Amino acid sequence: MSNEPHNTDVAIIGAGPVGLFAVFQCGMLNMSCHVIDALDSPGGQCTALYPEKPIFDIPGYPEIMAGDLVEKLGQQAAPFDPVYHFGQQVEKLTPSDGNGWQVDTSAGTRINAAAVIIAAGVGAFGPNRPPIEGIEQYEGHPPGHGVHYLVLRREDYRGRRVVIAGGGDSAVDWALSLSELAASVAVVHRRSKFRAAPESGQRLKQLADDGVVDLVIPFQLHGLEGVGGELRAVIVSDLDGNQRRLEADVLLPFFGLSQNLGPIADWGLNLHRNHIAVEPDTCIAGRPGIFAIGDIVTYPGKLKLILTGFAEAASAAHAIYPLVHPGEALHFEYSTTKGIPERR
Ligand SMILES: Cc1cc2nc3c(=O)[nH]c(=O)nc-3n(C[C@H](O)[C@H](O)[C@H](O)COP(=O)(O)OP(=O)(O)OC[C@H]3O[C@@H](n4cnc5c(N)ncnc54)[C@H](O)[C@@H]3O)c2cc1C
Repeated sequence: MSNEPHNTDVAIIGAGPVGLFAVFQCGMLNMSCHVIDALDSPGGQCTALYPEKPIFDIPGYPEIMAGDLVEKLGQQAAPFDPVYHFGQQVEKLTPSDGNGWQVDTSAGTRINAAAVIIAAGVGAFGPNRPPIEGIEQYEGHPPGHGVHYLVLRREDYRGRRVVIAGGGDSAVDWALSLSELAASVAVVHRRSKFRAAPESGQRLKQLADDGVVDLVIPFQLHGLEGVGGELRAVIVSDLDGNQRRLEADVLLPFFGLSQNLGPIADWGLNLHRNHIAVEPDTCIAGRPGIFAIGDIVTYPGKLKLILTGFAEAASAAHAIYPLVHPGEALHFEYSTTKGIPERR
């Protein structure tokens, strides 16, 4: 144990959009929070996977960049002084001696909390890597060079020769977007049909017809060429073994996310196909004092949307209130009635 344990009302596992909004909801009910995330910054999938993509279905925002939404959620939570613990994974959840739970992280942080909210999204997520020998030597280069599994800043690809691999929405959307500024864009897919939204697929085909994008189909990744870990070309092959060499500064493989609950699978919760089954009205997760919200939960009719997770955060906070304030009646109040505290 590196430090003295922390004590708080609610420990929130995951600082994705839903975990951040849970801080606000708990704060409005006079409950303090510590938030732990394995990543180095808040925002979960919004920050790690698509910070510069616009989201169109956040109520009240006709359009908002994912990164900007995270920024605003952080501002909304700030008056309640949450304590964040980044870059550490929650490994153990143990019942406390008194009431509540003891949360232990990979960095040796211990937090005692009356209740725990698991807002861990898809768990420990990471990209599915293509099985290419020696690919590691091209990973971890600055954006715009080497092999990258996500685009954090579109500008980094200006003037680059980009090869995109995959046939889903990410592959097609980024091909459309980067074709506006890259030196060249080639899309490698092993089938002639794409799994992307039909309108996007149509736009990609048009760009290919206009000679703006090179559609390399049906081909798949075969190998990489470079010097000193610096990518120079991507080798692709078709089913008959015919090969093509695509000059490239960067390869963006979009083969989806690997989903791994990690340590959460060992916490004795109601699991159903890599998700935590909850009662939707309370989001209780099968053990007293443990609640789960956001992408990680399942119940009949669950929609994996940020706005659904926001509503679950409100339900969980209300269900937690009697655990933190036993014997105190909770009078339901609108935020317009009670306002929010000034930031200390
Ligand atoms: C490309 C793309 C576009 C999308 N577009 C939309 C859209 O337009 N509208 C919409 O509503 N949704 C969209 N989504 C889905 C949306 O991003 C998710 O529904 C949302 O991020 C779920 O939020 P969350 O807080 O539940 O989980 P996440 O955002 O996944 O965050 C969970 C966090 O928990 C952390 N974590 C997990 N396990 C542990 C552990 N043991 N210890 C510590 N930390 C842990 C992770 O590091 C992560 O930061 C999109 C998703 C993608 C990938």
